[in-house]
Amino acid sequence: MDIQTNYPKKRCWIPFKQAIIERDGSVRACCYNPLVLGNLNQQDFEAIWYGRHFNNLRDSIVREEYSYGCDRLNCPVLKEIQS
Ligand code: SF4
Repeated sequence: MDIQTNYPKKRCWIPFKQAIIERDGSVRACCYNPLVLGNLNQQDFEAIWYGRHFNNLRDSIVREEYSYGCDRLNCPVLKEIQS
């Protein structure tokens, strides 16, 4: 899927631009999504950023499923998108 041309304005962009790194090395997409997408004690950041878990999350967003740890009950971004 061509993200550049098919990306609607009202969609979460966060996992395409940022990551959160916890003190224990865990990497997550944002403070609302509890899924750990990798750990810097086991992989380098590039492997995590381009890895299966980050891409699964991005794919679920591109498909507008928000099924990879996103939950509108916990996430104000998703709540706004789906309102
Ligand atoms: S929709 Fe919410 S929980 Fe999902 S990645 Fe975006 S900000 Fe995080």
